[in-house]
Amino acid sequence: AIYAHTGEDVLSSVFQQLDVDDDRLFNITMTFLHEMWDGLNNYGHDMAMIPTFVRSIPDGSEKGTFLALDLGGTNLRVCEVNLHGDKTFSLRQQKYKVSDALKTGEATTLFDYLADSVDAFLTDSGSPNCALPPSLARRNLAEVSDEEDVPYIPLGLTFSFPVEQTALDSGKLLTWTKGFAAKNAIGNDVVKLLQDAFDRKNMHVRCVALVNDTVGALLSRAYTSGGCILGAIFGTGTNGAYVEDMASISKLGRSAAVKEGNLMVVNTEWGGFNNSRSALPSTPYDNKVDRESINPGKQAFEKFISGMYLGEITRNVIVSLIDAAPKPLLFSGHSSKQLNKQWGVDTAVLSEVEEAWEGIGRFAPEDTGSTAEKLEHIRDVIIKRMELPPDSVSLNDADVVRKICTHIAWRAARLSSCAVAAVLFQTGRARLTRGGEETKNTAPLVDEGKRIGVGVDGSLVEHYPYFEKKLRASLRVLVGEDVERRVDIGLAKDGSGVGAALCALVAYRQN
Ligand code: ADP
Repeated sequence: AIYAHTGEDVLSSVFQQLDVDDDRLFNITMTFLHEMWDGLNNYGHDMAMIPTFVRSIPDGSEKGTFLALDLGGTNLRVCEVNLHGDKTFSLRQQKYKVSDALKTGEATTLFDYLADSVDAFLTDSGSPNCALPPSLARRNLAEVSDEEDVPYIPLGLTFSFPVEQTALDSGKLLTWTKGFAAKNAIGNDVVKLLQDAFDRKNMHVRCVALVNDTVGALLSRAYTSGGCILGAIFGTGTNGAYVEDMASISKLGRSAAVKEGNLMVVNTEWGGFNNSRSALPSTPYDNKVDRESINPGKQAFEKFISGMYLGEITRNVIVSLIDAAPKPLLFSGHSSKQLNKQWGVDTAVLSEVEEAWEGIGRFAPEDTGSTAEKLEHIRDVIIKRMELPPDSVSLNDADVVRKICTHIAWRAARLSSCAVAAVLFQTGRARLTRGGEETKNTAPLVDEGKRIGVGVDGSLVEHYPYFEKKLRASLRVLVGEDVERRVDIGLAKDGSGVGAALCALVAYRQN
């Protein structure tokens, strides 16, 4: 056969591969639901559906000051959170870098670093105000001798990796994600690893609660807005936690608490949805991302959606177009060191390209006018971020790159909407529609007509142009306009810190 193709054919084939049509969206949502049910019934599935032991949802009246430590994102954060009891809070925080050496070294070294960071925070910030008697609150803890009967400062740990929890303050690490691979941690209780590190350093800090960042987003959004059923992260990774009826969590077995109407937050670990990829729209560019990642075959869903990967998928598409035969389809065949390097294109670059196109952010509307001017901006972004020689990037190249970014972002948002739709269905708040027709189900909806609170966090949803708008547009396709309009998506600002504090409060009250 003669492969007589034009550049146009190749490009439209790439875009076609990146598109997810409405039927596919519906099928993915159904598969998502089935995998949720698998995870609720048994341990060891792709979607871990982890019971969190968080059984009450804040209403904004919670009060107190707590320490929170947040590991799992790009930065390590230590903060002191003051819940005012009127839906508001104040917070002081310090960020610390986590080097690749720490991420992949010995677990004890990593946890020692966490303890050191908390120590540094307490020392730098002078007097901790956290649940300490006034006499101590004014003194630096380092000055307090060990003989004194010093009360412990309660700390909530936000630990955003899959952990099989057995109580509010204990849980075993199932696997690392997002570039972490510290040795001798998997299978161990992360609260104990942290507490041992505090104890090694004679620090008067007690880790009383362990929360996932998704749970933090849910709790903090509930605190600030008076109600929330789903917390979702679209940052380095993606994941969600929602409020489930305990009777549906079959794997909890039978106990007095497990009965219909009793609630528990479940951390879905939806980043691991469909690791078999039977339902996901994998392209060769996605397969390459997966194959070269540190966790091939894992976190399949996340690799289509989150900030860690969108830039890398884009890079793969770009490089394949540079290499296209019989003639290059981008940059006259030029590549660059940056483009040749794994992870060489950050998702923030896609954001910049789209901002330039949409005329928002740095590229405010008055700065952009005609299509040609917008493409000039995009061309500048490409030259700068992909470190290409200026004369190798044409306006047509800029347009092609812009289309690639848009397709990849739309796909991420559409897939994200499947997860949200599945949770709305699972909690009885939506019926699913296929091709504009509602699936036959006449059961009344839960909280019909009411606001449905969803707390979100992460750079993608916070900074990517129109990510939420795109997610909503696809959600409307899946659950219909009435339900979609009632979904109140709000940023869970500082959700990790506030969520950990709210959890520490629950634990503190229980003791
Ligand atoms: P985390 O989830 O680690 O707490 P973030 O929510 O800040 O942290 O997400 C970091 C991820 O977001 C990184 O993978 C980065 O590539 C991506 N990112 C950073 N800035 C932007 C941006 N402006 N638009 C889209 N993605 C971004």
